[in-house]
Amino acid sequence: MNAVSIVPQPSPSSVVAKFLKRSPRLFIGGEWVEPTSSDTVDVIDPASGRQISSIANASKADVDRAVAAARKAFESGPWPDMLPAQRQALLWKLSDLIDANAAELAELESLDNGKTRMMASIIDVPGTREYFRYMAGWATKIEGSTFQSSIFAGPGPKFHTYTQREPVGVVAQIVPWNFPLAMAAWKLAPALATGCTCILKPAEQTSLTALRLGELIVEAGFPPGVVNILTGLGEQVGAALVAHPGVDKIAFTGSTEVGKIINKAASDTVKRVSLELGGKSPVIVFPDVNMEAVIGGAANAIFFNSGQVCCAGSRLYAHRKVFDQMVEGLSAAANAIRLGPGLDQQTEMGPLVSREQQERVLSYIESGRKQGAAIAAGGDAPAHEGYYVKPTVLVNVKPDMNVVREEIFGPVLVAQRFDDIDEVIRQANDTPYGLSASVWSNDVSTVHRVVPKIKAGTVWVNCHNFVDPSMPFGGYKQSGFGREHGHAAIELYTELKSVCMMV
Ligand code: ADP
Repeated sequence: MNAVSIVPQPSPSSVVAKFLKRSPRLFIGGEWVEPTSSDTVDVIDPASGRQISSIANASKADVDRAVAAARKAFESGPWPDMLPAQRQALLWKLSDLIDANAAELAELESLDNGKTRMMASIIDVPGTREYFRYMAGWATKIEGSTFQSSIFAGPGPKFHTYTQREPVGVVAQIVPWNFPLAMAAWKLAPALATGCTCILKPAEQTSLTALRLGELIVEAGFPPGVVNILTGLGEQVGAALVAHPGVDKIAFTGSTEVGKIINKAASDTVKRVSLELGGKSPVIVFPDVNMEAVIGGAANAIFFNSGQVCCAGSRLYAHRKVFDQMVEGLSAAANAIRLGPGLDQQTEMGPLVSREQQERVLSYIESGRKQGAAIAAGGDAPAHEGYYVKPTVLVNVKPDMNVVREEIFGPVLVAQRFDDIDEVIRQANDTPYGLSASVWSNDVSTVHRVVPKIKAGTVWVNCHNFVDPSMPFGGYKQSGFGREHGHAAIELYTELKSVCMMV
C-alpha cells in the first residue's frame, strides 16, 4: 500500500540549478529591479522540505512602482497604439518561447510545487502554451454592436448608437500555487489580448515559473510595463494591490476565505473583481455505468495533482448498488499510486505543496476519524521527509462532518451512497460551493434530469477535470463569480462603452 519506498529528489539540471541561484528581483517596467527592502521568502522543495532558492517579498513601495509602470504602459507608449494583430503576434511569440523552454519550465514547476515533472510536461506547460495561442486569436475579434435607437429629440435629429469594448485598464492578478504557470496564463493571456496592462502576483509558495515567464515576456518583445511581476506574501503584496487606487481590476484565483477578504477590500475603490474560488465537487455515479472506467475516472477526479485542484471530485455519491464496488476499486487505485519526488521518473504522485498544506490535510483526516469516519485507504503520511500524504478514501461519513462540508485541497475522497435521483441532487447541492460536478451514467434521460439541477459552473458527464480555453469556467455560490476562458474572459477584461451620436 503505497509501499514502494520513497526515493530522494534527484538533482536538478544545470539550467534549473543556475536559475535557482538568481538573486531575488522584481519585474517592473520591463526590468529586473532590486526590491526596495531586503525581505525575502524561502523557496522550499516540498519533496525534501529544504530551501532551494529565495524570492523577494515586495514592499508597499514596490507595489507603487509596479502600479505606476503598468499605468504608464496603459496610458502612453507603444502598447495602447498597437494594432490588435500586433498584440496577437506578441502573444503567439510568447507561446513559441514557452514551447522552446518547455523542459526547463516543467522541471521548475515540479521542483517548486511538488507535482511530477511528467505531469508538468504533459499538462501544465503545453496547457499554458495553448492558452496563450487561443487568447492570441481573440485580440483581433473583439467587437461591439450597433443599435436601432428610438431616441426622439424633436423633428430632424437622428441618432447613431453603438457599443465598443475597451480594455479595463491596469489589472492585478493574484494566483494560487496548484497550477502556478497555467494560472498565470489564464490571467495574463486574456488581459493582454484585450490591451490591459498587468501586475501578476504569483503565490509565495510557487513563484519560480512566473519569474521565468517574465524573462520570456522580455524576450518576446512586450513593451516595458505591460506585464509586471511582484513576488511576496499575500497579506502584504496581494492586499496592497487590492487596496491600491491605481488598480482598476482584481482577478483572483484561490481560497474562498481569501476571496471574501479581497471582495470586501476591493469595494472601497469599486474595483472590478473576478473570483475563482474553492470547491467541493460531487462525483455522482449511477448504477448503469461501466465500473472499471468509472473507478479510473473517479480516482483521477480526486487524485489528479494530489487533489490540489479547485474542481477536484472530492465527494463521491455512488448508487447503493455500486457503492461497495466503487469504494473497493477506488481504495485499490489509491493504494497503487506510487508516491515520490517530482523529478523521479517513477513517481505517480508528488508531495503536497507545503508543510502547512500537509498538516491541514492530515488534520482534516484526523477530524473525520474523530467524528466517526472510517479509513478505506491511506489516512496518514508516509514516514519520510517531504510533505507527502497518502491518497485517502473515507467512508461512514455524514453530511455534517467537516470532511464532507469543507474544501480539503488534498488527496482525500469522502464516499457516500444514495438510492434515487432526487436524493442525490439534494446531497450534491448541499454545499456552500458550486464550482463543478460530474455525472456518470449512460442513460440519457438520467443525465438530462440531473445536469440542469446541479448548481455548479461546470458539469462534466462521464469525465471530470477537463478544461478547455474555449469553455467558460467559474463558480456558482461561494465558488466565486465571473467566468474565465472563451469570450467570457474577454468580457472580464473589457469595459463596455455606449456611444450615442446625434446626426
Ligand atoms: P491557498 O489557501 O490555496 O494557499 P490563498 O487563497 O491563500 O490560497 O492564496 C491564493 C493567492 O492569494 C496567493 O497568491 C496568495 O499570496 C494570495 N493572498 C493570500 N492572502 C491574500 C490577501 N489577504 N489579499 C490578497 N491576496 C492574498
